[in-house]
Amino acid sequence: MFHTGGCHCENIKVRLRLAKPPEQMPLRSCSCSFCRSHGTRTISDRDGLVEIAATDWSLVERYRFGSRTADYVLCRRCGVYVGAVCETSSGLRAVVNVNCLDDRAAFTQAPAAPDYDGETTDARLDRRATNWMPATVIAG
Ligand SMILES: [Zn+2]
Repeated sequence: MFHTGGCHCENIKVRLRLAKPPEQMPLRSCSCSFCRSHGTRTISDRDGLVEIAATDWSLVERYRFGSRTADYVLCRRCGVYVGAVCETSSGLRAVVNVNCLDDRAAFTQAPAAPDYDGETTDARLDRRATNWMPATVIAG
């Protein structure tokens, strides 16, 4: 199952493969202030794969906050948040904001709202190494 999407001005392209159909994919709306302000719905399929590419990387913001262990990838031109990437013990891993996908409406599960406040940085990196999606960032 391949899904494509990206930012609104099409500078950032996202392509992912999921192990399950979109209606079976658990979604998350993380309760941090960044995700709440963007109204994100994210997926991370450890059995999937995601590729993030950009036509012009100078227009790509890699925003860091909190524990500063992940890059939140946003387009500087159109402002769309496509997902976050993190270097972990099992390689580069990512979560994807399904709202940036062309078939966003196919992801119908009600998002869970986990609260990761109070999680240690080590626990956070372990969780991402296990649960986030294997990712490739294509340098432009
Ligand atoms: Zn854009």
